[in-house]
Amino acid sequence: MPESLFADANSSLEEARFAIFGVPFDKTSSFRSGSAQAPDKIREASHNFETYMFEHGEDIESIKYCDLGNLEEFEDVSSMIRGVEEFTGGIVEKGKIPIVLGGEHSLTPGVVKCLDDIGVIVLDAHLDFRDEYEDEKFSHCSTVRRISDSIGVKSVVPIGVRSFSKEEEVDAEELGLRFITSYELSEKTTIQEALEMALRWIDKDKIYLSLDMDIIDPAFAPGISNPEPFGLAPIEIKKCINYLAGRLVGFDVVEVSPPFDNGNTSALAARLVRETIMATWKAQT
Ligand code: MN
Ligand code: MN
Repeated sequence: MPESLFADANSSLEEARFAIFGVPFDKTSSFRSGSAQAPDKIREASHNFETYMFEHGEDIESIKYCDLGNLEEFEDVSSMIRGVEEFTGGIVEKGKIPIVLGGEHSLTPGVVKCLDDIGVIVLDAHLDFRDEYEDEKFSHCSTVRRISDSIGVKSVVPIGVRSFSKEEEVDAEELGLRFITSYELSEKTTIQEALEMALRWIDKDKIYLSLDMDIIDPAFAPGISNPEPFGLAPIEIKKCINYLAGRLVGFDVVEVSPPFDNGNTSALAARLVRETIMATWKAQT
């Protein structure tokens, strides 16, 4: 268990609606590693916020959620994904909503495997659709590809994308992956319209939301593994969470890299976790 738990996580697993856990793993990180430190940094930052969230008219202390600490430090990506799948399975079996603090994006396919009949919305600057990267099929550059393998390409929609290889573009076209770029979001459509479209494409009631923090512009979220200009403003992510809250069955926040952070990225990640808990609880109670 970490010394400090996520703020206001005062409930037991049995009583909780939401169960937080951390995955301190960054072994496939291709550029600025350090996301293994993120779960504890996000927890630390989570203590800086008011418990009363006036825009929701509620105090987060009235919501029951727990923090189960961090998983072990796995040797390689395959054992990490297996570990995440096993641990998430235990949470989902008890009817709790998993909230995962990464770590790198390679953890998401492990969580998704535990949830039945879901669609996945991935908020990410990158398409993460490489079939493999440096001989690794489960790298953080292949997250959306592996999710597509397990739930079908029609059930996953990346949003906020502004970087992919020619090869990923060709594969996306061929396999039928639909996605929405950050340029479309800035020029053509609001985030609400984009989500409405994504939900129509996915056509499932239950949604899992995976938040790669690099969707946010590096000006607002500098402490991430692969900074990519022309990103979204943080408030757009808040809107996404609120729009999807009624359908959410799980959430992860990944790719925060504390060695490159001035503290603001962890704070933003912590605040978005609090937003997810509050908005989901309100929408589903
Ligand atoms: Mn990613
Ligand atoms: Mn990314």
